[in-house]
Amino acid sequence: MPHSRTPADGERYDVVVVGGGNAAFSAAHSARENGASVLVLEKAPEAEAGGNSYYTAGAFRLAHGGLADVRPLLDDPCDERLDSTRLPAYPVSAFTADMERVTDGRNDPEMTRVMVDDSAATVRWLLEKGLRWELLYQRQTYLEDGVWVFFGGLALGTVGGGKGLVAQHTEAARASGVEIRYGARVTDLLREGPAVTGVAVRGEDGEERRIAAGAVVLAAGGFESSADLRRKHLGEGWERALVRGTPLNTGEVLGLALAHGAAPHGDWSSCHSVQWDAGAPPEGGERDLTNGLTRQSYPVGIVVNQDGERFIDEGADYRNYTYAKYGRKVLRQPGGRAFQIFDAKTRPLLRAHEYDNDAITGATADSLEELAAELGIDPGGLTRTVERFNASVHGPEFTPSVKDGRAAHVRPPKSNWALQVDSPPYYGYAVACGITFTFGGLRIAPGSAGVIDTAGAPIPGLYAAGEIVGGLFSGNYPGGSGLIAGAVFGRRAGAAAGAAARRG
Ligand SMILES: Cc1cc2nc3c(=O)[nH]c(=O)nc-3n(C[C@H](O)[C@H](O)[C@H](O)COP(=O)(O)OP(=O)(O)OC[C@H]3O[C@@H](n4cnc5c(N)ncnc54)[C@H](O)[C@@H]3O)c2cc1C
Repeated sequence: MPHSRTPADGERYDVVVVGGGNAAFSAAHSARENGASVLVLEKAPEAEAGGNSYYTAGAFRLAHGGLADVRPLLDDPCDERLDSTRLPAYPVSAFTADMERVTDGRNDPEMTRVMVDDSAATVRWLLEKGLRWELLYQRQTYLEDGVWVFFGGLALGTVGGGKGLVAQHTEAARASGVEIRYGARVTDLLREGPAVTGVAVRGEDGEERRIAAGAVVLAAGGFESSADLRRKHLGEGWERALVRGTPLNTGEVLGLALAHGAAPHGDWSSCHSVQWDAGAPPEGGERDLTNGLTRQSYPVGIVVNQDGERFIDEGADYRNYTYAKYGRKVLRQPGGRAFQIFDAKTRPLLRAHEYDNDAITGATADSLEELAAELGIDPGGLTRTVERFNASVHGPEFTPSVKDGRAAHVRPPKSNWALQVDSPPYYGYAVACGITFTFGGLRIAPGSAGVIDTAGAPIPGLYAAGEIVGGLFSGNYPGGSGLIAGAVFGRRAGAAAGAAARRG
C-alpha cells in the first residue's frame, strides 16, 4: 500500500483527491509523479463513476499551430483523412480572445492566461500519462469538395469520448499506484489550526471515517445537479432544467469549502446550458447515449417556440461559441420548450450521433402545418414565421465551414448560414434546457491552484480544480474549455499538493 497508517486518525495519504472526474485524475497523476501517495475518493459507485467527464464528447480546446503541430498527438497518425484535412492554427492569442469575447470580458484574466498558456503542454502531458487523442471529424468539420474543413478553434478529443477519457484516466492512475475508492462521499474537511489535514468520508457501508492527508485537492464539481441550489443561485425556473451529466454534482463539497472560509469566485448566477432532447431524463444524463441527447446542428436550421416564433440568432457564430448560452433562452420560452426545424436540404448536414439515435423527440412531415400539429407548435405561427424568414434571406453562397454572411434579415436576424426552409419533408426536434455545469465556484491562486480564503490568504493544504473552481466563465463559454481547464489546474493542484505534503 502506498501510504502509512496513524492509529489516532486511521489512514494517512500524502494527497487525498476528492472527486473522480477529469480534474481529479489530472491532479492525482500529477501528485503521484511528484512522489506522493495518492487516494482518490469518488462519491459514485464504480459503475456510475467519472462525473460529468464521463458524459462528455471528450473535446479539449488547446492552442496549436495547425495540423502538422497536432498530428504527432494522434492515436492514428496514418488516418487517411489527414491528407484531405484543413485545420487552421489556433494560437494562444485566438484562444485568449475567444475567452474574452464569449464571456464579455468577465473571465478572470490571470486564470485565463494560465489555462491558455498551459493548454498544449498539458495535452502532451496527458498523452504521456496514457490518454489517447483523435481529431473530432464528426463534430467539428464540414466536408467541402473532398476536404475536411475544421471550424471554431476546436479539433482534438479523446478516443472514445468521455467514456474513453475516464477509462484511460482510471487505467493510468491505477498503473501508477494511485488508490481509488468508490462510493466514498466526502462529508467534511479536517483542520489543525488554519491547515487542512484530511477529510471525513462516508463509505458505502454508511460509516464515517477520518482520513489524514498532507494536502487535499477538491475536484468534486459544481452544483448543477441540485434543483434547490440552481433555483437559489441561477434563479426561478432553473429547478426545471434537465441535468445533462452526473446526478451527483450537488455542490456539497463546494459548500463545505465555503463553510471552512474559502472565498467564492466568478459568476454564480450563470451556467453552461444547451438545447437538449426534451424527452431526456430530468435528474441526470443517460450513461449509454451520454452526449447523444444534445441537439447542436441548429446553425443550419431555425429554432421556434410553441407559438412558432423564432427567438435566437441561430447563425450568430460557430456552434461552439453560442451553444452554451442558448439553453437558458429555451428555458425562458413558453413551457420551457423549443423546436429545431430543418428541411430535406439541411437534414443531411445534421450531426449523425445526435440526430440519428433512438432517443429523438421529434417528427417528420410533408408540410409545415402537419409538422407543427405533430409537435404541438401553433401551425399558423410556424408558417407565418417561415414565410417571413424565407422572404428575407440574402447573401453569398451557403458555406457551413465559414461565417458565410448569408443572412435572414428578420427579427431576430439569422446572421450566417440562412437557407430557406422550403424543401419537404420537414423535420422538427423538440428541445428543452439541459444544464451542463455551473460557472460560480471557489477562488484559487492560478499558479498553484491553492484555495484562497475570504481574507485573500491561501488555506494551507487545500487545492481545487475543475468545475468546483469559479472565475473562468460567465454567461457563455467556448466549447472544449471545461476539460482543458480541469486538466491544467488539476495538474497544477496535484503538483503543489504533492510538494506541500512533502514539506509536511
Ligand atoms: C453531456 C456533457 C458533455 C460535455 N462535453 C464536454 C466536452 O466535450 N468538452 C469539455 O471541455 N467539456 C464538456 N463538458 C463539461 C465537462 O464535463 C466539465 O467541464 C468537466 O468534466 C468537469 O470535470 P470535473 O472533474 O471538474 O468534474 P466532474 O467530472 O463532474 O467530476 C466531479 C466528481 O466529483 C464527485 N463528487 C461530488 N461530490 C462528492 C463528494 N461529496 N465526495 C466525493 N466525490 C464527490 C462526483 O461523483 C464526480 O465524479 C460536458 C458536460 C456534459 C454534462
